[in-house]
Amino acid sequence: MIQAHILGFPRIGKKRELKKTIEAYWRQEASEADLQKTAAQIRQQNWQWQQEANLAYVTVGDFSFYDNILDLSVALNNVPSRYRDLVDGSNVLDTQFIMARGRTAGGVEAPACALTKWFDTNYHYIVPEFEVEPRLALQAEALLAEIEQAKAWGEVKVVIPGLITYLWLGREKGSLVNRLNLLDVFKPVYQQLISRVAQAGVSAIEIDEPALANDLPTDWIEALRKLYAELDFGGRHTVLTCFFDAPCIDLADYFALPFDTFHLDFIHADGIGLKQAADALPAGKQLSAGLISGRNIWKADIAGIVAEINMLSDAQRDALLIAPACSLLHVPFDLEGETKLDPETKSWLAFARQKLQELQAIVAVVNGQKEVVDGYLAANQAAIESRRTSARVHDPVVQSAIDNLDTVPARRKSTFAERKKIQGACLNLPAFPTTTIGSFPQTAEIRAMRHDFRQGTVGRQDYVEFMQNEIKRAIDIQEEVGLDVLVHGEAERNDMVEYFGEQLAGFAFTENGWVQSYGSRCVKPPVIYGDVSRPASMTTDWITFAQSQTDKIVKGMLTGPVTILQWSFVRDDQPRRTTCQQIALAILEEVQDLEKNGIQIIQVDEPALREGLPLHKNRQAEYLEWATHAFRLATSDVADETQIHTHMCYSEFNEMIEYIISLDADVISIETSRSHMKLLDIFNACDYPNEIGPGVYDIHSPRIPPVKEMENLLHKAARLITPENLWVNPDCGLKTRNWEETKAALSNMVEAAKRIRAQVASKIPAQA
Ligand code: GLN
Ligand code: ZN
Repeated sequence: MIQAHILGFPRIGKKRELKKTIEAYWRQEASEADLQKTAAQIRQQNWQWQQEANLAYVTVGDFSFYDNILDLSVALNNVPSRYRDLVDGSNVLDTQFIMARGRTAGGVEAPACALTKWFDTNYHYIVPEFEVEPRLALQAEALLAEIEQAKAWGEVKVVIPGLITYLWLGREKGSLVNRLNLLDVFKPVYQQLISRVAQAGVSAIEIDEPALANDLPTDWIEALRKLYAELDFGGRHTVLTCFFDAPCIDLADYFALPFDTFHLDFIHADGIGLKQAADALPAGKQLSAGLISGRNIWKADIAGIVAEINMLSDAQRDALLIAPACSLLHVPFDLEGETKLDPETKSWLAFARQKLQELQAIVAVVNGQKEVVDGYLAANQAAIESRRTSARVHDPVVQSAIDNLDTVPARRKSTFAERKKIQGACLNLPAFPTTTIGSFPQTAEIRAMRHDFRQGTVGRQDYVEFMQNEIKRAIDIQEEVGLDVLVHGEAERNDMVEYFGEQLAGFAFTENGWVQSYGSRCVKPPVIYGDVSRPASMTTDWITFAQSQTDKIVKGMLTGPVTILQWSFVRDDQPRRTTCQQIALAILEEVQDLEKNGIQIIQVDEPALREGLPLHKNRQAEYLEWATHAFRLATSDVADETQIHTHMCYSEFNEMIEYIISLDADVISIETSRSHMKLLDIFNACDYPNEIGPGVYDIHSPRIPPVKEMENLLHKAARLITPENLWVNPDCGLKTRNWEETKAALSNMVEAAKRIRAQVASKIPAQA
């Protein structure tokens, strides 16, 4: 009998119950008991579905109030020393929340632990901190209690993050030089955790080591081998997983690790197929075959998967455990709740609960019980077929544009040096021009208005009037503050991707398709199901209205193709690069529309450019080639006079600076204030040729940065970058701030720019 299992299930609740209760708990409007009750209900629902799907195990350890890596930090008591006094006497739950959110008590500030992206997903984990002398101790009560609860639903498999991945994803603190040296310090308490779990009567223990999907250095790989050779799993069945890509070691070496079952992600592992893995699997071992996507929302092609399994020998089939490629954490809960999706589009989708049914169907067929799921299979086949041929998906006009992509320029007409002269003459800006990144405070009234307009309780005309007033207010304030390049403020945008997706053909939106981004924060990514095109202009009315309100230059604001791709569920029936090119052509039309309507500066934001980087280095160049090409497709076919800006708001351009240069944006703005301009080093080292706006203040904090502080940062920047290439702007958009903070901070920023102009700019030619 072939069976199936999952690596994890979403936990936020079908209607985001957990999010809501956690936030109520933080506001002290819900008790710990309320929170535990909600959590227990969600877990039970999840286990019940797993039981109904006849999985080999119900999975435990995938639940979390905030993040699983944080849970392991707490379970091992790897709590950074700055929290020690704060968490003294508090329960495990509050310890977690203090670490995740920071706390100020008695005038002592204990900032939150860093949060960062979980591999190449849009989920974020709490970064473990490693100090020289961690005071470790086991606190596994929460996990043990969950194991007890789960036993009612079937055989229990517990999932624990691998210790190597845990160390790999963390950062050294204080005087610690190499966190790998702490492995021996962590091993005893990690062993205790495993022993306690083994004694708790679980049937299997799964160790997740996705760090293997990165290019682990050899000393790390050696450490991993040694660790698992030494750990004692108390005779339990053991499962090792690696997902999001193929392991960085040979399959034979992966299978030689001391585990009973080995998981592989066949959706994302480049170059490893099921047959090849089954051939390499030693006798007596089991292969957990990740054959359906854990990260995307398309129905699996059941017949296709079954055909693949049927290529295996009987012995190989007997050694299979069918699985999603990774935890289902990255997909929404249940498609059933979606009432507004077009029925055809809906028939193509599978969320977490539907993926359990897919596993069940695959298992039934390969076990020779096809008749039990006949109806289901027919519906699956029909959906796969309709998606392949539907006119909703395939637009010949878009496809012919992609076939003729060569005819779309991916280079500006003139060199940057020539453009700089031409733009200088027509834009007439001072040295160190000041601007912002696009969004202004999204007040409660703005959000209420967007909501009411959507619900239909406010008519189009009232809505437009309201938004125009907002734009006018934003323009007036920017003039008052004395900024040089103004923006319209983005009040009409709920989200920088959704706003565009809603106006592009080929996108669908769900009502409850929430996935956890971090902690209690969820996102609802658009679904790109078909060829993308732009039926009508998306931003021109708002931006030209803004321009009509001022003599200063208004910068038009768009989201770039890579970011739109990266923050959506993307169709899997063509390469991601093709979808990205389609979006790029749609954005190009918008850019040209703005240009035609007299907008002289256009910013195309690409904050997610880096997020698409493949995990293994040998595939990164290929991605960067097509991603930067897509940006250039969207921005090159404009007049030399049109100044193209881009914006990226995270650190680390080091390994990809040549690609940033290749974007050939006239101006790039980046987030640099928190690193005190350190991020500029690489732009300095490579003699970055174009203009740069290094952020001079952190927009995440309500703090008003003093003039002197920003002036100092600008001086620092001017030592690293040719002063005539420098712009002055905040780190990112200001939508989370209020107007009072915004006005004060921007006034100081303008003053800082004036001072540096007086001191430095007299020595350089003005841009005009
Ligand atoms: N233009 C966007 C804004 O100002 C950019 C946001 C971002 O970089 N994430 O909000
Ligand atoms: Zn940003």
